Amino acid sequence: MLRVVLSRTFPRISGISNCQYSAAAIPVPSAQPKVHYNKLFINNEWQDAVSKRSFPTINPATGEVICQVAEADKADVDKAVKAAREAFRFGSPWRRMDASDRGLLLSRLADAIERDTAYLAELETLDNGKPYAVSYSVDVPMVVKCLRYYAGWADKWEGKTIPIDGDFFCYTRHEPIGVCGQIIPWNFPLLMQAWKLGPALATGNTVVMKVAEQTPLTALYVASLIKEVGFPPGVVNILPGMGPSAGSAIASHMDVDKVAFTGSTEVGHLIQQASGSSNLKKVTLELGGKSPNIIMSDANMAEAVEQSHFALFFNQGQCCCAGSRTYVQDTIYDEFMERSVERAKSRVVGDPFNMKTEQGPQVDEEQFKKILGYISSGKREGAKLMCGGGVAADRGYFIQPTIFGDVQDGMTIAHEEIFGPVMQILKFKTLEEVVERANDTKYGLAAAVFTKDIDKANYISSGIRAGTVWINCYNVFGAQAPFGGYKYSGNGRELGEYGLDNYTEVKTVTIKVPQKNS
Ligand code: NAD
Repeated sequence: MLRVVLSRTFPRISGISNCQYSAAAIPVPSAQPKVHYNKLFINNEWQDAVSKRSFPTINPATGEVICQVAEADKADVDKAVKAAREAFRFGSPWRRMDASDRGLLLSRLADAIERDTAYLAELETLDNGKPYAVSYSVDVPMVVKCLRYYAGWADKWEGKTIPIDGDFFCYTRHEPIGVCGQIIPWNFPLLMQAWKLGPALATGNTVVMKVAEQTPLTALYVASLIKEVGFPPGVVNILPGMGPSAGSAIASHMDVDKVAFTGSTEVGHLIQQASGSSNLKKVTLELGGKSPNIIMSDANMAEAVEQSHFALFFNQGQCCCAGSRTYVQDTIYDEFMERSVERAKSRVVGDPFNMKTEQGPQVDEEQFKKILGYISSGKREGAKLMCGGGVAADRGYFIQPTIFGDVQDGMTIAHEEIFGPVMQILKFKTLEEVVERANDTKYGLAAAVFTKDIDKANYISSGIRAGTVWINCYNVFGAQAPFGGYKYSGNGRELGEYGLDNYTEVKTVTIKVPQKNS
């Protein structure tokens, strides 16, 4: 029975994680996991903040404080950067380590995380609010796969020999960039940590990571595993703290060689500016989106409805790549709308530790209020509220699955990132029209098309300016496939072989030889 419930609840778990899990294999969670670590992790040691300040981390399902967490600011960033710089010193244990051993450490980290899957999933659910079944079956397995994938790359990231003119031997070395600042968001705390650590460590960099203030707990537990499996001191430093203080100190630090950021486009601008006005550190950005999801009239209706629901509502709607502009061809608009509303009304919202729950609370009060504000703007600007539209519980940050119909391109809800369980359904007539409208956005992170016609699918996938296009599916990720954005959605790619480029300096070495032979 539970298996049936889970496969209906999470129809694409296997699509997302490529893992086959049955609910029967998911252990019953503790809704009150013990918090073991709440300090800063610098040089493989647990430290209070220099200022001795701390901040509360909140359970979004209840609004109650889970615990206090040390709050890093500039002084702590300085300490962490020093530790990371020392770990990166020429001749240090980390710099002299065989690449295969770096891979082994990453692989052991993946093993330790896998061993502690249930605990990490409990802690993630407590701090973030995502359903435990998802934390356990999707987030943690994807973390493990990501780290294993990059473990394999550590000793395979090869340079080239290059046939330049003259009596010279020329080759390239793929060298680590150095001290990498990494600033991550709260929507997939563990997974964003793995996406950042995997390529950075496989290529031999050292890391100063600032985790999101809403969700610091799982990253700190992973820090303990980093120490446990044997990474040398200073290679990874993890700092909970606020964006404008700790995050900004990383972005403008004169001794940080690169910064990788995932979060809002607004802060992405600040990160890039901080680089420009400090030491021109390299910058990669994974930012927001307003991704079009296009349903052609020949699509398989049941699949398109279910996948479009998943595209928007997965993770409480808190996905940068959420399919938040659902374009439906006019001839099937009414049926698609009716079935989508029916599906949204059946979505199970509630206690994230309950196995039947599909949707937990939004991450915090700020996001909760912001989303309710967008719902009000949708009503005000004349969109038709088809279902939901309000608060879903009397405590915690729960919002009803909401659908707006008759949405026009100019409405605020049609062009701003809502980052919540609010679906916009728009009508279109022709292929050419929908591609033009889909591209009429500052963002370019992802897109999807549902159709049985390969020519239409190709037209759309080549016409849309976005880093990822899904055809007859949505939210399908693999550690092997790159992800990132066009336009305001960012620069650089994470995951896959492409993800290694952003953590690598290419050094050309040219040697004079007595006589070159072909
Ligand atoms: P945010 O961009 O403010 O925060 C993301 C990370 O950046 C956090 O670690 C935060 O502390 C840090 N940060 C904030 N200000 C900073 C600064 N001045 N310098 C350096 N680092 C800074 O995102 P948010 O406020 O948590 O959410 C706001 C909106 O951002 C959401 O509604 C959503 O639209 C978007 N968002 C996108 C993603 C994504 O995956 N692309 C993730 C989270 C949020």
